[in-house]
Amino acid sequence: TKWVYTFGDGQAEGEAGMRNLLGGKGANLAEMSNLGLPVPPGFTITTEVCTYYYDHGQSYPPELEGQVRAALDTVGRLTGRAFGDPANPLLVSVRSGARASMPGMMDTVLNLGLNDGTVEALARAAGDERFAYDSYRRFITMYSNVVLEIDHHHFEEVLDGYKDRKGYTLDTDLTAADWKTLIGQYKGIVERHLGRPFPQDPQEQLWGAIGAVFGSWMNNRAIKYRELHAIPASWGTAVNVQAMVFGNMGETSATGVAFTRNPSTGESELYGEFLINAQGEDVVAGIRTPQDITERARIAAGSTKPSMEAEMPEAYGELVRIYGILERHYRDMQDMEFTIEAGKLWMLQTRSGKRTAKAALRIAVELASEGLISEAEAVGRVDPASLDQLLHPTIDPKADRTILATGLPASPGAAAGEVVFNSEDAEAARKAGRKCILVRIETSPEDIHGMHAAEGILTTRGGMTSHAAVVARGMGKPCVSGAGTIRIDYANQTMTVGGRTVAKGEILTIDGSMGQVLLGQVKMQEPELSGEFATLMGWADKARRMKIRANAETPLDARTARTFGAEGIGLCRTEHMFFEGDRIVAVREMILAEDEAGRRTALAKLLPYQRADFVELFTIMSGLPVTIRLLDPPLHEFLPHTEEEIAEVAGAMGTSAEKLKRRAQELHEFNPMLGFRGCRLAILYPEIAEMQARAIFEAAAEAAKATGAPVTPEVMVPLVMTKAELDLVKARIDAMAQAVMTETGTQIEYQVGTMIELPRAALRAGDIAESAEFFSFGTNDLTQTTLGISRDDAASFLGPYVQKGIIEADPFVTLDQEGVGELVSLAAERGRRTRNGIKLGICGEHGGDPASIRFCQSLGLDYVSCSPYRVPIARLAAAQAAI
Ligand code: ADP
Ligand code: MG
Ligand code: MG
Repeated sequence: TKWVYTFGDGQAEGEAGMRNLLGGKGANLAEMSNLGLPVPPGFTITTEVCTYYYDHGQSYPPELEGQVRAALDTVGRLTGRAFGDPANPLLVSVRSGARASMPGMMDTVLNLGLNDGTVEALARAAGDERFAYDSYRRFITMYSNVVLEIDHHHFEEVLDGYKDRKGYTLDTDLTAADWKTLIGQYKGIVERHLGRPFPQDPQEQLWGAIGAVFGSWMNNRAIKYRELHAIPASWGTAVNVQAMVFGNMGETSATGVAFTRNPSTGESELYGEFLINAQGEDVVAGIRTPQDITERARIAAGSTKPSMEAEMPEAYGELVRIYGILERHYRDMQDMEFTIEAGKLWMLQTRSGKRTAKAALRIAVELASEGLISEAEAVGRVDPASLDQLLHPTIDPKADRTILATGLPASPGAAAGEVVFNSEDAEAARKAGRKCILVRIETSPEDIHGMHAAEGILTTRGGMTSHAAVVARGMGKPCVSGAGTIRIDYANQTMTVGGRTVAKGEILTIDGSMGQVLLGQVKMQEPELSGEFATLMGWADKARRMKIRANAETPLDARTARTFGAEGIGLCRTEHMFFEGDRIVAVREMILAEDEAGRRTALAKLLPYQRADFVELFTIMSGLPVTIRLLDPPLHEFLPHTEEEIAEVAGAMGTSAEKLKRRAQELHEFNPMLGFRGCRLAILYPEIAEMQARAIFEAAAEAAKATGAPVTPEVMVPLVMTKAELDLVKARIDAMAQAVMTETGTQIEYQVGTMIELPRAALRAGDIAESAEFFSFGTNDLTQTTLGISRDDAASFLGPYVQKGIIEADPFVTLDQEGVGELVSLAAERGRRTRNGIKLGICGEHGGDPASIRFCQSLGLDYVSCSPYRVPIARLAAAQAAI
């Protein structure tokens, strides 16, 4: 078996398509090599070795050692050096690289191959002792941390103490002699922890590092990350061993990261940061504040530090040339890592760059306009779920801003909440239902859960590519990073800036689009839905087959739904209207009435309200279909609770509180979800359904007359389990429609259909379709009744079920396609067999979930209906499902 693939010198054994085998980093290093770009030579140990390693008690395939040695020889030949050669040593980096990028999850070891002998050869070759010992001390700390598991802080403390004694502020202040002294102390630290000296044999160093990369695949950070991003453990990681190039060789050397387009706004411009005389992670670690790459960005940021464009024009020109090649080749925005050694630019990584939703939209639309991708591809480039970020509030431009501090606009959008200083407090606040802003000096992978729990993230250190910035953008949470004027005091749980101290629990607002930290709760506003958003949505609408409707009952929801592009209402829950204003008294009167006459009196009071509601809905939805569901929830839910409420209803009915309480007792249910609800209400109290039908039809006649647009109400009967139920209710509805048409002298087009939300209804869909003109799959109830799980009581065990892998995902978020999905599929098929072309839709929570929408597309449903804010997500997901 071939376990090792080399790259370098304008060729490679691998290529970009081999990402599964070589990992993302390795595949792209090979591809860049094939493109003739300047890539330090190296080789990739495949992900299959990782799988083998864990399948074979953490041991390697026998051929591996020989293949690694041969690859090292090839790299040595290409660089004119030899690994372990005391006179002319080849130094390498050992880098992990999984299939899916796992930023910051695995650690890289640089300068491997250095020891007491080779460090002197390096000094001689470079003519720079300081550089050689700087590299050696970096190697010892990195290797000790990653491979020997000796924590960084042991070394940092020694370094900080040394700097204090010498009066140094920056690492670059240290001389070769200083580093030599420190290296002596570092080795002492290692020997104390390890019980033996720091390994001097390059072969031992190399295999130690390879083992550490494979080992890190199973560390807690990596496992947690995979869990959050649904990456299977079986994928494994590759290991890349690559000849070192040095960004720390003095003032003509540097290291940096760059994006081919702005990852925050999507603007087409080279965008990034770099650091002179630095190595590897220095840029992202926030040790020094990085410099801008372009003059334009430097001027925009008002920075006085020279840009790469001004400082290193040749390397800059080369970077511009290369980024153009990479973007055209990959046909997507790239995130690149590079190093400049003595003026020469080397590429160390490229991948599709993470971006905000806003940037994703703009980039997709502009790449299509530039002809690099098609409109359909552009539609596929935006993650529907990420649109959520754009549909969320930003700060009202007219609002007063009391700016406490400014940092970098690391992830857009605005958020407000109480200040917390650690992830545990963020989680606690979230659990208690309170919004919080997580404030940290910087974040690390240990903070992921806290970042999830917080509304927004604020850090005082780190750039646009710091951990906090990258992760926040991925999560779609507002983030301000590098707000350097803020001092955080973790011990006292306070932060201080400009003489103002903010304690834990105080409210802050952050504006991640402007990089501002604002005092108090600042007024926010709704998002802008024009520009690229509208363009991409237009392309999505062309591509999709399914219609998108909204679940809406208030005029506000209906209007929001239309602005977001809804093509009708798929579910109007009439009971929501019963809680409006003081109607609830009449509703309670109806419920608690002793007899039909009493109920009719109360219903008469409700009729005008309902009719007015429907007139408004039909008017807003002008000409679009509106599905109205008859009263569904158990009457139990409307019962008065407090003495006051009881007295109020008793007063309205002219009865005693005592009598009312007794009646309420009778209506009490043990399991209301399976109780007196749905069409059962309409069957036992037909006058309720009649009132609702009258309201619907009178409103339809009125709205049609007023607007001139046709109104086609779809009356939906909930919780049906047999055709007989539907027939009884339908007869009342039809009779009412006739009556209203005669009374008003108008013709009303309408349909009567049913929810399919009980397993029996799904099974008997063939009979039910004889009476039903449409089906709407109520997948919330259908999930509850199929799985026998009450959504309201599931929290205690659903989480653990998902963690243990018993079920893949929360079935109330993503449709259980195997179980509930089979019922839906079967009902669709049986319904269609009876009534050819029967209209089919879904109106559960799943109507807004991209995976479930894909499933609906595969069943050929006519529409999905979801909450107004998810309509754009559903439009895009439906388009992607259709492409
Ligand atoms: P990550 O996956 O965390 O980004 P990388 O393997 O990309 O880790 O390594 C981090 C950084 O280390 C790179 O961006 C680069 O600056 C530096 N680096 C890695 N390999 C080399 C090398 N061969 N020469 C010089 N620098 C390197
Ligand atoms: Mg990298
Ligand atoms: Mg239901």
